[in-house]
Amino acid sequence: MSAVDTLLEGEKRTLEAAKALLHDGTSESCAEAFADLTRQYGRLLRHVRHLIRVGDRMQEELNNLNDRLQRSEVKYRSLFENVSEGIFIAQLDGRFLDVNPALARIVGHQTPAEFLRAHQEDFWWPFIDEDEHKRLFGALAAHGQVAHLHLRLRRWNGEALWVEVNAHASLDPHHAVATVEGVLSDITERTRILEELRHLATVDGLTGLFNRRHFMELCERELLQARRYRLEVALLMLDADLFKTVNDTYGHDVGDEVLRVIARLCQRQMREADIIGRLGGEEFAVLLPQTGLEAALGAAERLRHAIAQTSLPLADGRMLRFTVSIGVSAGAAHTVSLPDLLKLADRALYTAKNRGRNQVVSHRDIVQDQPASTSDSTD
Ligand code: GH3
Ligand code: MG
Ligand code: MG
Repeated sequence: MSAVDTLLEGEKRTLEAAKALLHDGTSESCAEAFADLTRQYGRLLRHVRHLIRVGDRMQEELNNLNDRLQRSEVKYRSLFENVSEGIFIAQLDGRFLDVNPALARIVGHQTPAEFLRAHQEDFWWPFIDEDEHKRLFGALAAHGQVAHLHLRLRRWNGEALWVEVNAHASLDPHHAVATVEGVLSDITERTRILEELRHLATVDGLTGLFNRRHFMELCERELLQARRYRLEVALLMLDADLFKTVNDTYGHDVGDEVLRVIARLCQRQMREADIIGRLGGEEFAVLLPQTGLEAALGAAERLRHAIAQTSLPLADGRMLRFTVSIGVSAGAAHTVSLPDLLKLADRALYTAKNRGRNQVVSHRDIVQDQPASTSDSTD
C-alpha cells in the first residue's frame, strides 16, 4: 500500500469514528474523542502538506528537465544547422534521411529539402557512382564505422569533389533498424594542393622531367622488380656539351630553352617504360628496364643523333645547334646496384668528353683501363 493510500485509509477511519461519535456518543466521551480526532486531523494535515511539497518539488524538477532538454535540443540543432562540415543521418542501405544545410551546400544545393529530393530521384547521388556508394555503406555494414574515408562525390552540376567521411552505424531502439550518422568534409581543395605539392616534389620545374630524388626512387623500385626476375637493365647518362659556352654566348634564357629541348627529345626518343630524370644542371639520366648493353647503346646513339640534328631558332634569326655526350652502363639487375650503374655510366660519360664530345661511350670501353666496382650480388 502506498503512503497516500495509507493516509487516505487513516482519514476514512477517522471520519467513520467521527460519524459514530456524533450518532451515539456521550458529552464526556465526545470531548475526549474530539480531541483525539483533532490530533489525527492535525497529523493528516501535516502529511498532506508534505505530499504537496513533494509534488511541487517533482513538478519543478520536471520543468527543469524539460528546460534542459529544450536548451540542449536548441544547442545541437544550432550546431547541426551552422557547422561547416556536412552532417547526415541515413539508413544502412544508403538512403539519406536527414542532412544539414552544410552538406546540401557542399554538393551544390540550397537546402536540405532540395538535397533529399535530388537523392530520391537518383539513389546513388551524391556518390560519383555505385562503387563509391558501396565503399561507404559496405564498410559500415561490415565494421559498423568508418574513419577518415576519402570518397568521390558528384556535385549537382556534375563537378567531381573529394570528401572525407567519419561515420558510425547504430541500432535505433525504437524501430530496430540500423541508422548511420556521419560527418563529411569537403577536401577537394586540400587534395588538389597535395597533388600539386607531390608534383612539385617529384618533378623538375624547368624541364618537367623527374627530379634527381624521385628519379633515384623510381629506379630503385624498378631495380627491385628487375632483380626478382633476373632481368637486364641499362642506364644512360647525358651531359650537354660545352654548355657554359651556350650560356655565356647566348644568355641564360637560351641555355634554359636548350635544356627544355633536350628534355623533350629524351621523352620523344625513349620508350614509355624508360625512366627519365634531370640529375642537376645540364646533366640527365635514363634508366632502360629490360634492356641489354647493345640495345641501350643503340637507343643512346639515336638520342645523341636526334639532339645533334635539332636546331633552336634564336631571336636574331640564327639557328643554334648543340650536342650531348652519353655514357652507357648495363648489367643483370641481380648483379649491379643503382650506384654501380651510375658510377659506370659516369665514367663512360667522362671518357666520351675526353674523346671529343658528341658521342656515346659504353662502360665496356673503359673497364680495361679503369676496373669497375660492380659487385657480384647486391641482393
Ligand atoms: P662539358 O662539355 O665538359 O660538359 O662542358 P660544360 O660547359 O657543359 O660544363 P661545365 O660544367 O663547365 O658547365 C656547365 C654549365 O651549365 C654551367 C652552368 O652555369 C650551366 N647550368 C647549370 N644549370 C643550368 C640551368 O638550369 N640553366 C642554364 N641556363 N644553365 C645551367
Ligand atoms: Mg655537367
Ligand atoms: Mg656539360
